[in-house]
Amino acid sequence: MTRKTPLTAQEHADLGAALAAIRDELLRRSVQVANAYPKTAPQATHLDKAVKAVDSARCDLDNALARDHPDAFDTHTYYPDQEDRARVLAGPGLDVICGACRKPIGDGEGNLWVDLSAVNAAEQAQAEWERRYKADETLVTVTAAQLSELPDEVPWRSHHIDCDPQPGANAYAIPATELRTWAELLDWTAHLMEKPWLGLTDWDGLLRAVVGGKTRVVAR
Ligand SMILES: [Zn+2]
Repeated sequence: MTRKTPLTAQEHADLGAALAAIRDELLRRSVQVANAYPKTAPQATHLDKAVKAVDSARCDLDNALARDHPDAFDTHTYYPDQEDRARVLAGPGLDVICGACRKPIGDGEGNLWVDLSAVNAAEQAQAEWERRYKADETLVTVTAAQLSELPDEVPWRSHHIDCDPQPGANAYAIPATELRTWAELLDWTAHLMEKPWLGLTDWDGLLRAVVGGKTRVVAR
C-alpha cells in the first residue's frame, strides 16, 4: 500500500493564497446573486454554501499545516492580511465558550449544538398539547396549569469535541468557527428562522445572553 505524502509548507503557502482568492471571488459573486434573488432561492443558497465549504477547507488545511509543519506555521498562510483587516473592520468579535470547561472553542475544536431528538420530542409534546387544549373551541382561555404542561425549551449547548457529554447525539451543530462575528450570528439566526422547530429551542435566550453572558456565544 502506498502512503500518501502530506503537503509541504511551500505547497500550503500556494494553496492558502489560491483559496483566499477563490473565497474573495466566491463571496463577491454570492453577494451579487443574493441581491438579485430571494435569500432562500437555490441560486443564492448554493453559492453561500460554497463560501462556507471553502472556509471549512481552509480551516482543516490550517490545522494540517500546524500539525505537520509546526515550525513553518503562520496564521497568515490560510488567512492572508486583506481578510484579517476586513475581520477587524467588522467590529469586535464573538467567542463560543464551552459549557463544560468554560474555555473558548477554537477553529475546528467544537460546536454550538442542539439535540434534534429532544427537539422532536418537544414537537410531539407541543402537538399533543394543542390537540388536547386547542381542538376544543369552547375553551376560550388557557389556564396556568395547562400552560405549564407545554414542553420546556430545548437548550442550545456549546462544547469542545473533547468535552462533549453526548458525542453520539443526533445534533444540529454549528461549528464555532462559523460564529466569529455579529454578521455571522445574524446570518445563522436568519437561516434558523426557516426551521419550524426554532421556537421550541432557547435560541432567543442565547441571543439575549451574547452581551454579558458567560457561556455559549459571547461578545469579546
Ligand atoms: Zn471544553
